Amino acid sequence: MATAGFSLIPNANPTDARVREEILANPGFGRFFTDHMAHVRWTASDGWHNAEVRPYGPLTLDPAASVLHYAQEIFEGIKAYRHADGSVWSFRPEKNAARFRASARRLALPELDTETFIGSLKALVAQDIGWVPTPGSEADESSLYLRPFMIASEKFLGVRPSKEVDYYVIASPVASYFKGGIKPVSIWLSSTYNRAAPGGTGFAKCGGNYAASLAAQKEAEAHQCDQVAFLDAVENKWVEELGGMNLFFVFKDGRIVTPALTGTILEGVTRDSVLQLAKDAGLKPEERPISIDEWREGAASGEISEVFACGTAAVITPVGQLVGENERITCTAENGGEVGRSLRKQLLDIQYGRSEDTHGWLTRLA
Ligand SMILES: *Cc1c(COP(=O)(O)O)cnc(C)c1O
Repeated sequence: MATAGFSLIPNANPTDARVREEILANPGFGRFFTDHMAHVRWTASDGWHNAEVRPYGPLTLDPAASVLHYAQEIFEGIKAYRHADGSVWSFRPEKNAARFRASARRLALPELDTETFIGSLKALVAQDIGWVPTPGSEADESSLYLRPFMIASEKFLGVRPSKEVDYYVIASPVASYFKGGIKPVSIWLSSTYNRAAPGGTGFAKCGGNYAASLAAQKEAEAHQCDQVAFLDAVENKWVEELGGMNLFFVFKDGRIVTPALTGTILEGVTRDSVLQLAKDAGLKPEERPISIDEWREGAASGEISEVFACGTAAVITPVGQLVGENERITCTAENGGEVGRSLRKQLLDIQYGRSEDTHGWLTRLA
């Protein structure tokens, strides 16, 4: 059956149910994909049209398609959670839809309305509902990761906005981001690279930002670190975020600080939700600039009692150590990180339907 506005071309050779169950028992992260994908086409002359759910499979792109040359591309990341009664829900998808439009404006791509965005998630999940993992316990953080993206597909070697664009949603069953429990991550402080600059694309979720962060990530790995933290590009002084996660600093007096959104930071849905949950819990959230010296000194003195990173994929992850050329500072004690752990549980309990959704954050997909 097709969902409102989306026609259906069923996959004639869907994954065998037994193979699918094997995949769902151990999906890893982003390695396996479902049997279908959603697609909507846009042309300058006709606007958005041809909404469909069709078999998952390779795209046919002209070698001159402008996305391949000028990286006119944006994406989103959102999860579908199965609740105990079998229903499937997503978390604040209207925020992702709004961010997708903001990214589209920055990359000179056409904007997709919230209804079509959420409709595409519903249409795909309805068709591939058998791919949404059923968590066996509270510790089981498996879900169906949804990846909407938009590419410039016009055959044209010239630098101008594409007059042909394709929007797709693909889906991948995923397990908990961390195999074997949550481990504090070590963070490399890059002194070579910046992620974003004023007037640039830092606030947009575009592939180019990730491409540009890979060299810094390699540098982090060469120093045995898991992730890289970026400072602002103007003064190299203000903490911005990690390559794909926002940062929070918990002070022992109850303040919880995250860098203010200045156009160079990606506006995380998890970040926004953590700010609300922290307020609900009686903490004092602050969105303001925080300097690398405040981080260093606060962590060293114990004024900052824990640091964590957050994003849809890994939820909330404690930051164990900050590592630089000549420094290694413990940010979250070995068995510490109570605030992050508590916020993490609250977030997951809402997402999986185990506690009341008092903020109206859930949207039923199927
Ligand atoms: C996606 C992303 C985040 C996290 O956003 P969520 O909406 O919480 O998943 C943070 N930083 C960057 C650079 C990102 O791309």
